[in-house]
Amino acid sequence: MPPYRDALRHLLFHGHHNLLSPESTLQVMSDAIRHDWSTEETLAILQSPLLDLVQRARTIHSDHHGNDSVQLASLLSLKTGGCSEDCNYCPQSVHHSTNVGNGDLMAYDQVLDTARKARELGASRFCMGAAWRQVHDGEEFDRVLNMVRGVGALGMETCVTLGMLSQDQARRLAEAGLTAYNHNLDTSPEYYNKIISTRDFEDRMETLRHVREAGISLCVGGIIGMGESDRDRARMLEILAGLDPHPESVPINALVAVVGTPLENRPPVDPLDLVRMCATARILMPESRVRLSAGRHQLSREAQVLCFLAGANSIFYGEKLLTTANTECEEDRRLLRELGLSPLPPDVDKPTPATSAA
Ligand code: SF4
Repeated sequence: MPPYRDALRHLLFHGHHNLLSPESTLQVMSDAIRHDWSTEETLAILQSPLLDLVQRARTIHSDHHGNDSVQLASLLSLKTGGCSEDCNYCPQSVHHSTNVGNGDLMAYDQVLDTARKARELGASRFCMGAAWRQVHDGEEFDRVLNMVRGVGALGMETCVTLGMLSQDQARRLAEAGLTAYNHNLDTSPEYYNKIISTRDFEDRMETLRHVREAGISLCVGGIIGMGESDRDRARMLEILAGLDPHPESVPINALVAVVGTPLENRPPVDPLDLVRMCATARILMPESRVRLSAGRHQLSREAQVLCFLAGANSIFYGEKLLTTANTECEEDRRLLRELGLSPLPPDVDKPTPATSAA
């Protein structure tokens, strides 16, 4: 329980005047979480003087999280390349000429070995991605369900990102014990068709609804550095914060401009813009895990420290993301030690379903 809530509870229940019933106290506490941020309000926060912004985010962060834990999530590409979508930032699209090929779905044992190694290195969540436009029922989806069961049985939280999902597919993932589903909004609804033409923003929202209805946590965020305006960035955060409840995990990615993609010549993201995004996400969504994601390896240690100060409390951990480089594990552990931050243990209260190699 965050410290301010303890204090509030104490004051209301044990103070000289027992002012409120337990029900109304909970109401007071939940009022602190808002889902009705406007674009103008969000933009004003995003553009506020940096020191004020970081200070405000830091205060909210301390109230809701304590100061000391960072979620370490490892990421593995189960099936790389050959995707029929045309996301301008992605080297895995068949529409772009990158040197990412079109791989097969990985074997169960290889996935489990990688997950075990990630666990030994201290990761609590294991994220698995497949470069699919959408999930098709059949042998490959059944294999992924089995991987979810297998990784869950290692005592790790599981997350997958598989593209669009039907209601029934989300239900089957939930039955396999999936902790979270990643499905990023990428950018604002207004800028969306500048980045992707093979699906629209509403398709994204529909999959998010299916995931929620199945009782799976949402991991949903976006990317900066694709030529969008501050208003687009604010709109994306506003829509994320409009989800009720807020997403459990909010990855903030900085574009990694890969040669051969339409965005190959985009200039690098200013690290302070990433700090602004982390801080604004923290202010709008006080209880979510704000994850520093793609592009972190391009940040100096000092820029990463600023992001942590601004409310980031989750990172991708491991030497590779889906297809691009990441920061070395040892370097990450050293930085966390220096900052007095400890890795978050996995939250795996759900009963683990039985598993077998497929
Ligand atoms: S981001 Fe995902 S959906 Fe888009 S091209 Fe890459 S793999 Fe396909």
